[in-house]
Amino acid sequence: MALLGCRIKLEGQDVYPARVDGAADVYQSPRFILTKARWVEDKQVSTCILCNNKFNQIRRKHHCRQCGRVLCNKCCKERMPLPQLGIEDAERVCDACAPVTQLITKARSQMHQFQVESADGLTERCKNHNSIKRVVELGGIQTLIVLAQTENVQILRSVMSGLQALATHQPLHQELATAGAIKVICSILSRLREAEEQILTDGISSLMIFCKSPELKKKALDDGALNPVLTLCMYQSPTLALLALCTLSLIVENPDTHDAIVESSRNALPRILALTASSDEQTQEVALKILAHLSNGTDWHRHRIVQEDFSSGCSLHKALSSHPQNEQILCNAVCLIGNLATSAEDQSSLQSVMVRVCQLLQNSPSNSDLKIQLSRAIANFSKFKQNSDRLVPYVSDIVQTCIKSTTPSIRVHGMRAILSLLSYSPSQTTAELMRDGAVDLLESLGKVHGLLDSVQATLTIQAAALTRPL
Ligand SMILES: [Zn+2]
Ligand SMILES: [Zn+2]
Repeated sequence: MALLGCRIKLEGQDVYPARVDGAADVYQSPRFILTKARWVEDKQVSTCILCNNKFNQIRRKHHCRQCGRVLCNKCCKERMPLPQLGIEDAERVCDACAPVTQLITKARSQMHQFQVESADGLTERCKNHNSIKRVVELGGIQTLIVLAQTENVQILRSVMSGLQALATHQPLHQELATAGAIKVICSILSRLREAEEQILTDGISSLMIFCKSPELKKKALDDGALNPVLTLCMYQSPTLALLALCTLSLIVENPDTHDAIVESSRNALPRILALTASSDEQTQEVALKILAHLSNGTDWHRHRIVQEDFSSGCSLHKALSSHPQNEQILCNAVCLIGNLATSAEDQSSLQSVMVRVCQLLQNSPSNSDLKIQLSRAIANFSKFKQNSDRLVPYVSDIVQTCIKSTTPSIRVHGMRAILSLLSYSPSQTTAELMRDGAVDLLESLGKVHGLLDSVQATLTIQAAALTRPL
């Protein structure tokens, strides 16, 4: 094998990606020079590697300066300069290398037309699994990244589409990241606010693919992905905005990003809240998922979300009311509300969603994920004394749906709620339980591991004082 670099598998073939001499990040050093391929010695070969004809006095041996292999004159007759290898004079290049080499050489030209041809040609080959191997081995990835630094829309359109095609190949991700692809994509998305939709779509699609890997997501954030993604979430095209929103939902899995999103000067929070009441169900589902992540961290983030929702039109209440059939939307929304319910200072702003959550429980949903989220949210609300009057009327629903559930986590949340209500509103809660559910509650309490032992132990301590001799 004449090519250097470590081997990767691409479309079932062994591929040896091109290596750069010195700094691998060609976004930083656009005049990169590639490491030359290993030079195959004359004496190692007796036939041409392409046509397989034997070498003799007439059929002489020639080296391809690109791949370093030995070939006959017929298979190695093209001559071209190879600036990407530091060779300025025209040199022999074999038929296997010539088409891609020529495109890579052209990219180095200052002539606009040559750069356009290079971008188009390389991109077309990135999209074809028969030709992608040569692009990767001869420096096509690096060349596209350098070409992406142009301001020319025609070239950018082509290059971004090529980088997007490369990003769909997982084995190339590390190569792309090392060479600076994520950085160049973030930079294009940042500077081209009003760019063509296709360029932005290809860019954000690539970014979304990278953000699926925790390691590359971190790189994307280091390379400045957050701000362009937040900006694109507000783009007027719904398809593009949804792609950006999906990318953001991957980014928020990293809690380090939460401060920047909640405090973003780009109005990210009100915008995401508004999207929770979108008429597009997928948009709604993803926006709610993002907020559920954001509300999972600090009290301050929960407080900001509640405040913002309250002052911008109570989208969360609308989200809970608009698509009651779509259970994933309901699950995401109730999970978010369950997180917000722990915020002590926001209980009065959350009254209407709390009641809506109780009504949803009352409808006894069949989806067990939804039941877990509903019971958890109600248990979290029940911890605050000021909610007990509003929650007491739902005691029998909590017993029917939660206490009687066969799912342990739902039962535990149900009991948390009832016990809180018993401590804040003992007579009303008892009255409700006497009408319906007291037996079920006591039965369930008896089954809680260790509970009876611990009650016994407490009573024994108290009884000791009562039975002390006078
Ligand atoms: Zn030959
Ligand atoms: Zn060659």
